[in-house]
Amino acid sequence: MAAATELSLIAYGDLTASCERCALAKTRTQVVFGSGSPTADLMFVGEAPGFHEDKQGIPFVGAAGQLLTKLLAGIGLTRDDVYVANVLKCRPPGNRDPLPEEIQACESHLFKQIELIEPKVVATLGNFATKLLSGKPAGITRVHGQAQEVVLGGNRVLLYPIFHPAAALYTPRMLEVLESDFRRLPELLGREVAPPAPVAVFASPQAPAAPELLAPALPSEQLQLGLF
Ligand code: URA
Repeated sequence: MAAATELSLIAYGDLTASCERCALAKTRTQVVFGSGSPTADLMFVGEAPGFHEDKQGIPFVGAAGQLLTKLLAGIGLTRDDVYVANVLKCRPPGNRDPLPEEIQACESHLFKQIELIEPKVVATLGNFATKLLSGKPAGITRVHGQAQEVVLGGNRVLLYPIFHPAAALYTPRMLEVLESDFRRLPELLGREVAPPAPVAVFASPQAPAAPELLAPALPSEQLQLGLF
């Protein structure tokens, strides 16, 4: 049902274009919903739009995005083969870190995207996405490269934390680690994932925002935030 998925994702993107759930609505140029294949097996989740993303309305178009595109090419994929989104859909002024209340206000958009796209693998780029989607406080330095099964948006997926490309831009050692973690993606995409278990989940934009995880989630306030 690729066509139906695409339509629902487009419809949901249209809905979020006028989102005013947090104060970022006042300072953004536009909502940066996501880009790529609406039926992608592989989805990336970054932190928040930056200057260029805010202007163009597309995630990961700046320097970090160019590195992401390069890393994808290294495993034989293009941006059109995957779906790319962020924890926050609007740019925090001056590219400051997302605030807990902004993450909480925005998270159900991300869960709805995951519900509609039904990816096999969700690669979280850096700390914000990793902590939100794992529901655990462990930082990216500790958990990068370790895939774990979780239920997100009602779908059982492999969550795969990796460093944020921005962290690797000027640190050669970090780039090596990121490249090495990237090289495992094809294997993860080929891996069989069990069908969704009958767990209680919500998946509607009206429902209260909460991560749908196998493990109990931490309140956003307890998340330790930052790229590393
Ligand atoms: N651009 C994005 O869209 N997200 C990030 O996390 C960083 C840059």
